[in-house]
Amino acid sequence: MNNNVAMNSCKEEEQEDRVPLAETSLLNKLIQSSLVESHHHVEILQRDPRSPLFSVKVFEELHLKKELLQGIYTMGFNRPSKIQETALPMMLADPPQNLIAQSQSGTGKTAAFVLAMLSRVHPEGRFPQCLCLSPTYELAMQTGHVVEKMGRFCVHVKVAYAVRGNRIPRGTVIEEQIIIGTPGTVLDWCFKMKLLDMNKMQVFVLDEADVMIDKQNFSDQSVRIQRALPPTCQMLLFSATFAEPVLQFAQQIIPDPNIITLRREELTLHNLRQYYFECENNEAKYKALCNVYGSITIGQAIIFCQTRKNAKWLSWAMSSDGHQVALLSGELTVEERAEVIQKFRDGKDKVLITTNVCARGIDVMQVTIVVNFSLPTNMDHFADFETYLHRIGRAGRFGKKGLAFNMVEKHNLPLLLAIQDYFKTTIKRLDPEDMEALEKIAE
Ligand code: ADP
Repeated sequence: MNNNVAMNSCKEEEQEDRVPLAETSLLNKLIQSSLVESHHHVEILQRDPRSPLFSVKVFEELHLKKELLQGIYTMGFNRPSKIQETALPMMLADPPQNLIAQSQSGTGKTAAFVLAMLSRVHPEGRFPQCLCLSPTYELAMQTGHVVEKMGRFCVHVKVAYAVRGNRIPRGTVIEEQIIIGTPGTVLDWCFKMKLLDMNKMQVFVLDEADVMIDKQNFSDQSVRIQRALPPTCQMLLFSATFAEPVLQFAQQIIPDPNIITLRREELTLHNLRQYYFECENNEAKYKALCNVYGSITIGQAIIFCQTRKNAKWLSWAMSSDGHQVALLSGELTVEERAEVIQKFRDGKDKVLITTNVCARGIDVMQVTIVVNFSLPTNMDHFADFETYLHRIGRAGRFGKKGLAFNMVEKHNLPLLLAIQDYFKTTIKRLDPEDMEALEKIAE
Protein backbone atom coordinates (compact mmCIF):
# COMPACT_ATOMS: atom_id res chain seq x y z
CA MET A 1 0.00 0.00 0.00
CA ASN A 2 1.35 3.37 -0.92
CA ASN A 3 0.68 5.69 1.95
CA ASN A 4 3.18 8.40 1.31
CA VAL A 5 1.19 10.08 -1.32
CA ALA A 6 0.54 13.76 -1.34
CA MET A 7 -3.20 13.92 -1.17
CA ASN A 8 -5.63 16.58 -2.02
CA SER A 9 -8.25 17.61 0.39
CA CYS A 10 -11.74 16.64 -0.63
CA LYS A 11 -12.86 20.12 0.17
CA GLU A 12 -10.65 21.63 -2.45
CA GLU A 13 -12.34 24.20 -4.58
CA GLU A 14 -12.07 22.46 -7.88
CA GLN A 15 -14.74 22.30 -10.48
CA GLU A 16 -16.30 18.95 -11.10
CA ASP A 17 -16.38 17.74 -14.64
CA ARG A 18 -19.40 19.04 -16.44
CA VAL A 19 -19.79 17.71 -19.91
CA PRO A 20 -21.83 19.51 -22.56
CA LEU A 21 -24.85 17.58 -23.79
CA ALA A 22 -23.59 17.47 -27.37
CA GLU A 23 -20.40 15.73 -26.25
CA THR A 24 -22.28 13.13 -24.25
CA SER A 25 -24.45 12.50 -27.23
CA LEU A 26 -21.48 12.06 -29.55
CA LEU A 27 -19.82 9.79 -27.00
CA ASN A 28 -22.92 7.61 -26.95
CA LYS A 29 -22.84 7.40 -30.72
CA LEU A 30 -19.19 6.41 -30.74
CA ILE A 31 -19.57 3.62 -28.23
CA GLN A 32 -22.89 2.28 -29.43
CA SER A 33 -22.12 -0.36 -31.94
CA SER A 34 -25.38 -2.16 -31.26
CA LEU A 35 -28.86 -1.45 -30.02
CA VAL A 36 -29.54 -0.74 -26.39
CA GLU A 37 -32.08 -3.39 -25.51
CA SER A 38 -33.66 -3.19 -22.11
CA HIS A 39 -37.21 -3.33 -20.89
CA HIS A 40 -39.02 -0.65 -22.76
CA HIS A 41 -42.51 0.53 -22.61
CA VAL A 42 -43.96 2.44 -25.58
CA GLU A 43 -46.48 5.25 -25.20
CA ILE A 44 -48.23 6.67 -28.22
CA LEU A 45 -50.24 9.83 -28.56
CA GLN A 46 -51.89 9.85 -31.95
CA ARG A 47 -52.82 13.01 -33.76
CA ASP A 48 -55.94 11.27 -34.95
CA PRO A 49 -56.86 8.63 -32.37
CA ARG A 50 -59.38 7.07 -34.77
CA SER A 51 -56.80 6.14 -37.37
CA PRO A 52 -55.61 2.56 -37.08
CA LEU A 53 -52.27 2.03 -35.43
CA PHE A 54 -49.81 -0.20 -37.21
CA SER A 55 -46.75 -1.75 -35.77
CA VAL A 56 -44.36 -3.94 -37.69
CA LYS A 57 -42.32 -6.89 -36.55
CA VAL A 58 -40.26 -7.30 -39.73
CA PHE A 59 -38.82 -4.81 -42.22
CA GLU A 60 -40.58 -6.55 -45.13
CA GLU A 61 -43.94 -5.31 -43.87
CA LEU A 62 -42.83 -1.77 -44.68
CA HIS A 63 -42.73 -2.42 -48.44
CA LEU A 64 -39.41 -0.68 -48.87
CA LYS A 65 -37.45 -0.35 -52.10
CA LYS A 66 -35.37 -3.47 -52.48
CA GLU A 67 -32.03 -1.63 -52.52
CA LEU A 68 -32.97 -0.03 -49.21
CA LEU A 69 -33.91 -3.36 -47.66
CA GLN A 70 -30.59 -4.70 -48.89
CA GLY A 71 -28.82 -1.79 -47.18
CA ILE A 72 -30.59 -2.51 -43.89
CA TYR A 73 -29.71 -6.17 -43.94
CA THR A 74 -26.11 -5.44 -44.88
CA MET A 75 -25.94 -3.28 -41.74
CA GLY A 76 -26.85 -6.38 -39.77
CA PHE A 77 -30.37 -5.31 -38.77
CA ASN A 78 -32.65 -8.33 -38.57
CA ARG A 79 -35.80 -6.71 -37.32
CA PRO A 80 -37.03 -3.28 -36.23
CA SER A 81 -36.08 -2.05 -32.77
CA LYS A 82 -38.83 -1.31 -30.27
CA ILE A 83 -39.21 2.34 -31.29
CA GLN A 84 -38.88 1.49 -34.98
CA GLU A 85 -41.78 -0.99 -34.73
CA THR A 86 -44.23 1.86 -34.17
CA ALA A 87 -42.36 4.86 -35.54
CA LEU A 88 -41.54 3.47 -38.98
CA PRO A 89 -45.12 2.79 -40.13
CA MET A 90 -46.06 6.34 -39.06
CA MET A 91 -43.02 7.85 -40.74
CA LEU A 92 -43.63 6.01 -44.00
CA ALA A 93 -47.41 6.44 -44.08
CA ASP A 94 -49.18 8.14 -46.96
CA PRO A 95 -50.19 10.88 -46.66
CA PRO A 96 -47.13 11.66 -44.55
CA GLN A 97 -47.62 12.21 -40.83
CA ASN A 98 -45.56 14.38 -38.55
CA LEU A 99 -43.86 12.77 -35.59
CA ILE A 100 -42.17 13.67 -32.34
CA ALA A 101 -40.29 10.72 -30.83
CA GLN A 102 -38.34 10.36 -27.65
CA SER A 103 -36.23 7.47 -26.50
CA GLN A 104 -32.87 7.03 -24.90
CA SER A 105 -29.78 7.08 -26.99
CA GLY A 106 -28.98 3.83 -28.77
CA THR A 107 -32.55 2.69 -29.35
CA GLY A 108 -32.59 3.18 -33.12
CA LYS A 109 -33.92 6.70 -33.74
CA THR A 110 -31.22 7.71 -36.23
CA ALA A 111 -31.59 4.50 -38.20
CA ALA A 112 -35.36 5.13 -38.29
CA PHE A 113 -35.28 8.64 -39.73
CA VAL A 114 -32.45 7.82 -42.11
CA LEU A 115 -34.60 5.01 -43.42
CA ALA A 116 -37.55 7.38 -43.76
CA MET A 117 -35.47 9.91 -45.73
CA LEU A 118 -34.01 7.25 -48.01
CA SER A 119 -37.42 5.80 -48.57
CA ARG A 120 -39.10 9.11 -49.51
CA VAL A 121 -36.37 10.42 -51.75
CA HIS A 122 -36.83 10.38 -55.53
CA PRO A 123 -33.39 9.44 -56.84
CA GLU A 124 -34.11 10.74 -60.32
CA GLY A 125 -34.74 14.25 -58.95
CA ARG A 126 -31.32 15.92 -58.76
CA PHE A 127 -32.19 18.50 -56.10
CA PRO A 128 -32.42 18.60 -52.27
CA GLN A 129 -35.52 16.82 -50.98
CA CYS A 130 -34.72 15.93 -47.37
CA LEU A 131 -33.19 18.21 -44.75
CA CYS A 132 -31.83 17.00 -41.42
CA LEU A 133 -30.64 19.39 -38.70
CA SER A 134 -28.07 18.20 -36.15
CA PRO A 135 -26.71 20.22 -33.23
CA THR A 136 -22.99 19.84 -34.01
CA TYR A 137 -20.62 19.23 -36.87
CA GLU A 138 -19.61 15.84 -35.45
CA LEU A 139 -23.19 14.66 -34.95
CA ALA A 140 -24.11 15.77 -38.47
CA MET A 141 -21.20 13.76 -39.86
CA GLN A 142 -22.25 10.70 -37.82
CA THR A 143 -25.77 10.86 -39.24
CA GLY A 144 -24.38 11.36 -42.75
CA HIS A 145 -22.35 8.20 -42.42
CA VAL A 146 -25.48 6.27 -41.50
CA VAL A 147 -27.19 7.63 -44.64
CA GLU A 148 -24.21 6.59 -46.72
CA LYS A 149 -24.13 3.12 -45.19
CA MET A 150 -27.84 2.40 -45.32
CA GLY A 151 -28.14 3.95 -48.75
CA ARG A 152 -25.12 2.27 -50.28
CA PHE A 153 -27.27 0.34 -52.75
CA CYS A 154 -29.38 3.40 -53.58
CA VAL A 155 -26.67 4.46 -55.98
CA HIS A 156 -28.26 7.65 -57.25
CA VAL A 157 -29.03 9.06 -53.81
CA LYS A 158 -26.38 11.45 -52.52
CA VAL A 159 -25.75 13.41 -49.31
CA ALA A 160 -24.43 16.96 -48.90
CA TYR A 161 -23.17 18.38 -45.61
CA ALA A 162 -24.20 21.91 -44.67
CA VAL A 163 -21.60 22.30 -41.95
CA ARG A 164 -18.90 24.83 -41.16
CA GLY A 165 -15.91 24.51 -43.40
CA ASN A 166 -17.84 23.11 -46.34
CA ARG A 167 -17.62 26.16 -48.56
CA ILE A 168 -19.90 26.06 -51.56
CA PRO A 169 -19.59 28.87 -54.11
CA ARG A 170 -22.64 31.04 -54.59
CA GLY A 171 -24.67 29.94 -57.57
CA THR A 172 -23.75 26.26 -57.22
CA VAL A 173 -26.58 23.93 -58.10
CA ILE A 174 -26.86 21.38 -55.34
CA GLU A 175 -27.85 18.04 -56.79
CA GLU A 176 -27.65 15.96 -53.60
CA GLN A 177 -31.09 14.87 -52.44
CA ILE A 178 -30.30 14.65 -48.73
CA ILE A 179 -28.85 17.62 -46.84
CA ILE A 180 -27.51 17.19 -43.34
CA GLY A 181 -26.29 20.20 -41.46
CA THR A 182 -26.14 22.42 -38.44
CA PRO A 183 -28.71 25.24 -38.10
CA GLY A 184 -26.31 28.17 -38.72
CA THR A 185 -24.87 26.84 -41.96
CA VAL A 186 -28.25 25.58 -43.18
CA LEU A 187 -29.65 29.08 -42.64
CA ASP A 188 -26.81 30.52 -44.73
CA TRP A 189 -27.35 27.98 -47.49
CA CYS A 190 -31.02 28.69 -47.38
CA PHE A 191 -31.36 32.47 -47.15
CA LYS A 192 -27.98 34.09 -47.71
CA MET A 193 -26.71 31.93 -50.53
CA LYS A 194 -30.03 30.64 -51.79
CA LEU A 195 -28.59 27.20 -52.44
CA LEU A 196 -31.65 25.36 -51.17
CA ASP A 197 -35.14 25.58 -52.56
CA MET A 198 -37.14 24.93 -49.44
CA ASN A 199 -40.36 24.53 -51.37
CA LYS A 200 -39.10 21.24 -52.74
CA MET A 201 -38.33 19.69 -49.37
CA GLN A 202 -40.35 16.58 -48.57
CA VAL A 203 -38.86 15.55 -45.24
CA PHE A 204 -37.50 17.72 -42.46
CA VAL A 205 -35.75 16.03 -39.52
CA LEU A 206 -34.73 17.80 -36.37
CA ASP A 207 -32.42 15.45 -34.52
CA GLU A 208 -31.28 15.64 -30.90
CA ALA A 209 -33.80 18.34 -30.01
CA ASP A 210 -32.70 18.30 -26.37
CA VAL A 211 -29.11 19.05 -27.36
CA MET A 212 -30.31 21.59 -29.89
CA ILE A 213 -32.20 23.75 -27.42
CA ASP A 214 -29.22 23.63 -25.09
CA LYS A 215 -27.22 25.58 -27.66
CA GLN A 216 -27.55 29.31 -28.02
CA ASN A 217 -29.66 30.48 -30.97
CA PHE A 218 -30.18 26.99 -32.30
CA SER A 219 -33.85 26.81 -31.44
CA ASP A 220 -34.52 30.20 -33.06
CA GLN A 221 -32.54 29.24 -36.13
CA SER A 222 -34.37 25.91 -36.36
CA VAL A 223 -37.72 27.68 -36.15
CA ARG A 224 -36.69 30.04 -38.97
CA ILE A 225 -35.70 27.09 -41.13
CA GLN A 226 -38.87 25.20 -40.36
CA ARG A 227 -41.01 28.25 -41.25
CA ALA A 228 -39.52 28.30 -44.74
CA LEU A 229 -40.73 24.76 -45.45
CA PRO A 230 -43.96 24.05 -47.32
CA PRO A 231 -46.91 22.66 -45.32
CA THR A 232 -46.69 19.44 -47.33
CA CYS A 233 -43.20 18.72 -45.94
CA GLN A 234 -43.17 15.92 -43.41
CA MET A 235 -41.68 17.06 -40.08
CA LEU A 236 -39.95 14.66 -37.72
CA LEU A 237 -38.31 15.49 -34.40
CA PHE A 238 -36.21 13.26 -32.18
CA SER A 239 -34.89 13.64 -28.69
CA ALA A 240 -33.29 11.46 -26.03
CA THR A 241 -35.15 13.30 -23.27
CA PHE A 242 -38.42 15.14 -22.93
CA ALA A 243 -37.94 17.75 -20.26
CA GLU A 244 -40.68 20.40 -20.39
CA PRO A 245 -38.71 22.94 -22.51
CA VAL A 246 -37.87 20.22 -25.06
CA LEU A 247 -41.49 19.16 -25.36
CA GLN A 248 -42.60 22.78 -25.71
CA PHE A 249 -40.03 23.39 -28.43
CA ALA A 250 -41.00 20.16 -30.16
CA GLN A 251 -44.67 21.04 -30.20
CA GLN A 252 -43.92 24.56 -31.40
CA ILE A 253 -41.89 23.34 -34.34
CA ILE A 254 -43.85 20.23 -35.41
CA PRO A 255 -47.48 20.87 -36.39
CA ASP A 256 -50.12 18.20 -35.63
CA PRO A 257 -47.69 15.56 -34.48
CA ASN A 258 -48.04 11.98 -33.41
CA ILE A 259 -45.97 11.53 -30.28
CA ILE A 260 -44.10 8.37 -29.35
CA THR A 261 -42.17 7.97 -26.13
CA LEU A 262 -40.22 4.95 -25.11
CA ARG A 263 -39.78 4.75 -21.38
CA ARG A 264 -37.07 2.56 -20.08
CA GLU A 265 -37.05 0.70 -16.82
CA GLU A 266 -36.66 3.01 -13.87
CA LEU A 267 -33.42 2.92 -11.98
CA THR A 268 -34.01 1.55 -8.53
CA LEU A 269 -31.92 0.70 -5.53
CA HIS A 270 -33.80 -2.52 -4.77
CA ASN A 271 -31.35 -4.85 -6.34
CA LEU A 272 -28.41 -3.38 -4.47
CA ARG A 273 -26.70 -3.79 -1.18
CA GLN A 274 -25.30 -0.49 0.06
CA TYR A 275 -22.56 0.01 2.62
CA TYR A 276 -20.47 2.81 3.99
CA PHE A 277 -17.10 3.19 5.62
CA GLU A 278 -16.42 6.09 7.89
CA CYS A 279 -12.99 7.35 6.90
CA GLU A 280 -10.99 10.24 8.21
CA ASN A 281 -9.33 11.31 5.00
CA ASN A 282 -8.43 10.21 1.49
CA GLU A 283 -5.68 7.99 2.76
CA ALA A 284 -8.08 6.08 4.99
CA LYS A 285 -10.56 5.83 2.13
CA TYR A 286 -7.90 4.38 -0.05
CA LYS A 287 -6.99 1.86 2.62
CA ALA A 288 -10.63 0.80 2.98
CA LEU A 289 -10.84 0.44 -0.77
CA CYS A 290 -7.79 -1.81 -0.82
CA ASN A 291 -9.29 -3.95 1.95
CA VAL A 292 -12.49 -4.34 -0.04
CA TYR A 293 -10.37 -5.26 -3.00
CA GLY A 294 -8.42 -7.78 -0.99
CA SER A 295 -11.49 -9.54 0.40
CA ILE A 296 -13.96 -9.55 -2.45
CA THR A 297 -13.54 -11.10 -5.82
CA ILE A 298 -14.52 -8.17 -7.86
CA GLY A 299 -16.04 -8.40 -11.30
CA GLN A 300 -15.86 -4.90 -12.62
CA ALA A 301 -16.00 -1.75 -10.58
CA ILE A 302 -16.59 1.93 -11.18
CA ILE A 303 -15.18 4.39 -8.66
CA PHE A 304 -16.62 7.88 -8.62
CA CYS A 305 -14.62 10.84 -7.43
CA GLN A 306 -15.91 14.35 -7.01
CA THR A 307 -13.05 16.14 -8.72
CA ARG A 308 -10.69 15.46 -11.59
CA LYS A 309 -7.70 15.95 -9.31
CA ASN A 310 -9.00 13.37 -6.88
CA ALA A 311 -9.66 10.88 -9.66
CA LYS A 312 -6.19 11.38 -11.07
CA TRP A 313 -4.61 10.87 -7.68
CA LEU A 314 -6.59 7.70 -6.99
CA SER A 315 -5.75 6.26 -10.35
CA TRP A 316 -2.08 7.02 -9.76
CA ALA A 317 -2.19 5.47 -6.28
CA MET A 318 -3.92 2.30 -7.45
CA SER A 319 -1.67 1.89 -10.47
CA SER A 320 1.39 2.35 -8.26
CA ASP A 321 0.09 -0.54 -6.16
CA GLY A 322 -0.11 -2.73 -9.21
CA HIS A 323 -3.84 -2.53 -9.99
CA GLN A 324 -4.92 -2.17 -13.54
CA VAL A 325 -7.20 0.81 -13.67
CA ALA A 326 -8.61 3.06 -16.34
CA LEU A 327 -9.19 6.77 -15.82
CA LEU A 328 -12.08 8.54 -17.48
CA SER A 329 -12.27 12.27 -17.04
CA GLY A 330 -13.41 15.38 -18.84
CA GLU A 331 -9.86 16.21 -19.86
CA LEU A 332 -9.95 13.50 -22.50
CA THR A 333 -11.31 14.14 -25.95
CA VAL A 334 -14.61 12.47 -26.81
CA GLU A 335 -12.76 9.91 -28.95
CA GLU A 336 -10.37 9.10 -26.11
CA ARG A 337 -13.27 8.72 -23.70
CA ALA A 338 -15.06 6.40 -26.12
CA GLU A 339 -11.91 4.30 -26.28
CA VAL A 340 -11.61 4.05 -22.48
CA ILE A 341 -15.27 3.04 -22.16
CA GLN A 342 -15.01 0.51 -24.96
CA LYS A 343 -11.98 -1.13 -23.35
CA PHE A 344 -13.78 -1.29 -20.03
CA ARG A 345 -16.90 -2.71 -21.68
CA ASP A 346 -14.79 -5.36 -23.36
CA GLY A 347 -13.55 -6.33 -19.91
CA LYS A 348 -9.95 -5.34 -20.62
CA ASP A 349 -9.90 -3.05 -17.60
CA LYS A 350 -11.46 -4.14 -14.34
CA VAL A 351 -11.68 -0.78 -12.61
CA LEU A 352 -12.85 2.47 -14.03
CA ILE A 353 -12.14 5.63 -12.05
CA THR A 354 -14.18 8.59 -13.07
CA THR A 355 -15.83 11.83 -12.19
CA ASN A 356 -19.43 12.48 -13.20
CA VAL A 357 -18.69 12.15 -16.90
CA CYS A 358 -19.79 8.58 -17.15
CA ALA A 359 -22.58 8.60 -14.62
CA ARG A 360 -25.31 9.24 -17.16
CA GLY A 361 -26.36 7.55 -20.28
CA ILE A 362 -23.74 4.91 -20.47
CA ASP A 363 -24.82 1.45 -19.45
CA VAL A 364 -21.99 -0.84 -18.56
CA MET A 365 -23.70 -4.10 -17.89
CA GLN A 366 -20.92 -6.01 -16.22
CA VAL A 367 -20.39 -3.71 -13.27
CA THR A 368 -20.81 -5.46 -9.96
CA ILE A 369 -19.44 -2.78 -7.67
CA VAL A 370 -19.83 0.96 -7.50
CA VAL A 371 -17.70 2.97 -5.11
CA ASN A 372 -18.42 6.53 -4.15
CA PHE A 373 -15.01 7.77 -3.16
CA SER A 374 -16.87 10.96 -2.34
CA LEU A 375 -20.61 11.29 -1.92
CA PRO A 376 -22.16 13.35 -4.69
CA THR A 377 -23.14 16.86 -3.68
CA ASN A 378 -24.68 19.77 -5.52
CA MET A 379 -23.39 23.35 -5.75
CA ASP A 380 -24.79 24.13 -2.31
CA HIS A 381 -23.01 21.12 -0.79
CA PHE A 382 -26.25 19.24 -0.15
CA ALA A 383 -26.59 15.57 -1.07
CA ASP A 384 -27.25 15.17 -4.79
CA PHE A 385 -29.84 12.38 -4.78
CA GLU A 386 -30.28 12.12 -8.51
CA THR A 387 -26.57 11.69 -9.13
CA TYR A 388 -26.38 9.12 -6.32
CA LEU A 389 -29.10 7.09 -8.00
CA HIS A 390 -27.45 7.34 -11.40
CA ARG A 391 -24.06 6.36 -10.06
CA ILE A 392 -25.25 3.49 -7.92
CA GLY A 393 -27.71 2.45 -10.61
CA ARG A 394 -24.70 1.34 -12.70
CA ALA A 395 -24.39 -1.75 -10.51
CA GLY A 396 -26.84 -4.56 -10.22
CA ARG A 397 -28.71 -3.73 -13.38
CA PHE A 398 -30.51 -6.15 -15.65
CA GLY A 399 -31.41 -8.46 -12.81
CA LYS A 400 -27.89 -8.85 -11.47
CA LYS A 401 -27.08 -8.15 -7.84
CA GLY A 402 -24.80 -5.24 -7.15
CA LEU A 403 -22.78 -3.77 -4.31
CA ALA A 404 -22.31 -0.12 -3.50
CA PHE A 405 -19.68 1.24 -1.14
CA ASN A 406 -19.61 4.79 0.12
CA MET A 407 -16.50 6.33 1.62
CA VAL A 408 -17.65 9.00 4.04
CA GLU A 409 -15.82 11.47 6.27
CA LYS A 410 -17.37 12.08 9.67
CA HIS A 411 -18.48 15.59 8.77
CA ASN A 412 -20.28 14.17 5.74
CA LEU A 413 -22.34 11.61 7.66
CA PRO A 414 -25.42 13.88 7.52
CA LEU A 415 -25.24 13.60 3.72
CA LEU A 416 -25.41 9.84 4.05
CA LEU A 417 -28.39 10.05 6.38
CA ALA A 418 -30.13 12.38 3.96
CA ILE A 419 -29.61 9.85 1.14
CA GLN A 420 -30.97 7.03 3.31
CA ASP A 421 -34.04 9.07 4.18
CA TYR A 422 -34.65 10.21 0.66
CA PHE A 423 -34.58 6.72 -0.83
CA LYS A 424 -36.04 5.05 2.27
CA THR A 425 -33.17 2.64 2.14
CA THR A 426 -30.53 1.32 4.50
CA ILE A 427 -26.85 1.91 4.02
CA LYS A 428 -25.05 -0.37 6.43
CA ARG A 429 -21.90 0.67 8.24
CA LEU A 430 -18.80 -1.48 7.76
CA ASP A 431 -15.53 -1.54 9.60
CA PRO A 432 -12.79 -1.39 6.97
CA GLU A 433 -10.48 -3.46 9.18
CA ASP A 434 -12.99 -6.25 9.73
CA MET A 435 -11.90 -8.55 6.95
CA GLU A 436 -14.27 -11.27 8.06
CA ALA A 437 -17.28 -9.01 7.65
CA LEU A 438 -15.98 -7.87 4.28
CA GLU A 439 -15.59 -11.41 3.06
CA LYS A 440 -19.13 -12.23 4.19
CA ILE A 441 -20.56 -9.51 1.98
CA ALA A 442 -19.36 -11.23 -1.11
CA GLU A 443 -21.10 -14.50 -0.28
P1 ADP B 1 -30.21 6.45 -31.54
O1 ADP B 1 -30.31 7.38 -32.72
O2 ADP B 1 -31.51 6.25 -30.82
O3 ADP B 1 -29.08 6.79 -30.62
P2 ADP B 1 -29.15 4.56 -33.48
O4 ADP B 1 -30.10 4.60 -34.62
O5 ADP B 1 -27.87 5.30 -33.64
O6 ADP B 1 -29.87 4.98 -32.12
O7 ADP B 1 -28.88 3.01 -33.17
C1 ADP B 1 -27.97 2.58 -32.18
C2 ADP B 1 -27.17 1.40 -32.71
O8 ADP B 1 -28.05 0.32 -33.00
C3 ADP B 1 -26.44 1.71 -34.01
O9 ADP B 1 -25.20 1.03 -33.99
C4 ADP B 1 -27.35 1.15 -35.09
O10 ADP B 1 -26.62 0.75 -36.23
C5 ADP B 1 -27.98 -0.05 -34.39
N1 ADP B 1 -29.37 -0.31 -34.83
C6 ADP B 1 -30.35 0.58 -35.10
N2 ADP B 1 -31.48 -0.06 -35.48
C7 ADP B 1 -31.22 -1.38 -35.43
C8 ADP B 1 -32.00 -2.57 -35.71
N3 ADP B 1 -33.27 -2.53 -36.09
N4 ADP B 1 -31.36 -3.77 -35.55
C9 ADP B 1 -30.08 -3.84 -35.16
N5 ADP B 1 -29.30 -2.76 -34.88
C10 ADP B 1 -29.86 -1.55 -35.03
